[in-house]
Amino acid sequence: MRGRNRATIRINRVVHNDNRLPSLACLSHNDMDAWPQHRCQGAERNDCISRIWKGVQVPQFTDAYARSFYYLRLSVTDVCNFRCTYCLPDGYKPNGNHNKSFLSLDEIRRVTRAFAAAGTEKVRLTGGEPSMRRDFTDIIAAVRENDAIRQIAVTTNGYRLARDVRAWRDAGLTNINVSVDSLDARQFHAITGQDKFAEVMAGIDAAFDAGFEKVKVNSVLMRDLNSHSLATFLDWIRIRPIQLRFIELMETGEGGDLFRRHHISGEVIRDQLIMQGWQLQPRGRSDGPAQVFRHPDYQGEVGLIMPYEKDFCASCNRLRVSAMGNLHLCLFGDGGVSLRDLLASDDQQGELQARIAHSLGQKKQTHFLHQGNTGMTHKTSLSLAAKHRSYSHG
Ligand code: SAM
Ligand code: SF4
Repeated sequence: MRGRNRATIRINRVVHNDNRLPSLACLSHNDMDAWPQHRCQGAERNDCISRIWKGVQVPQFTDAYARSFYYLRLSVTDVCNFRCTYCLPDGYKPNGNHNKSFLSLDEIRRVTRAFAAAGTEKVRLTGGEPSMRRDFTDIIAAVRENDAIRQIAVTTNGYRLARDVRAWRDAGLTNINVSVDSLDARQFHAITGQDKFAEVMAGIDAAFDAGFEKVKVNSVLMRDLNSHSLATFLDWIRIRPIQLRFIELMETGEGGDLFRRHHISGEVIRDQLIMQGWQLQPRGRSDGPAQVFRHPDYQGEVGLIMPYEKDFCASCNRLRVSAMGNLHLCLFGDGGVSLRDLLASDDQQGELQARIAHSLGQKKQTHFLHQGNTGMTHKTSLSLAAKHRSYSHG
């Protein structure tokens, strides 16, 4: 596209193979079959990947560093019933929000519609613990109303999985991440403050029974706690289609001590995997930040999420909206842009999209974690930090 006259770009309606995704594509390209995977590069990028909403052309959300955003992490509550040492060691405390409610079903419907219209393909529902919402199944169904959103994921501590996972799947959930930091029931209890290891394991089984072909499991990597348990974890995924994702422990505003005691680089795991013949896989456009490894002897995969690694931000494709309706351009950015006043009615959709698009101009190139910035994690846990949030790996 570079060097071509913008005016020569023609837009045409095409229908993707699965017959569900009427979209717009650029006729200047011959590779229509690849749509919607195809994206033009260069300054004219927005012309090529625009979509229409109520007859108005909506450009793909893109920032000043040419990063396009296909992936929204939406927090639906700050409430949680666990007390993970690295997140909410003292449990959930309302933190001054008593009078304000979390996003309603209609607000969730509107915000996801705005993102879908501007190219978002994947929404991760997170929290807090998202399944603490009584209307969680309805939330999934509301997000599912957007045909453009092809993946709806949840990150959960798993305590409601066994009971509800089938209903979630029926409502449209496509991907599940369950947090399990240890395969030892006692250590699991010590880390989460809840003696629910057996329930969470039963929940993972229930997810497979309900028809999910793969389940992702998040483990926060901690020195002296689980960093030496790689062999146990690998044994577990030998015959299970589980993507086990080690997340480097991140420093939170009040978690400095824990961080100094337990942070360990994911490189330790990466080196062991490579030595044992695991191979790094290519990353897809709306994939999360994990480096994924596979091995022919294992049904499962291993993912590494290493936010302290150089260039972690270069591949950022994610935006976040907190449970109070603030847009966060980065977990480690401050404040957030309130969207709530534009979520009250369907008529505000255009304004909402414009505010999000404009805010993206402020997105910084990197999170400055290395300089000790804990951004919106300032003060308390990652999950409640800076009052309202959604979390980077969800
Ligand atoms: N309650 C749900 C759960 O635990 O899966 C969803 C929200 S939780 C904040 C999302 C993910 O963030 C979990 O996998 C959790 O382990 C991870 N997490 C929380 N605090 C973290 C920290 N300080 N460093 C790294 N990961 C963290
Ligand atoms: Fe709750 Fe998830 Fe935080 Fe654990 S990591 S305290 S389950 S929000």
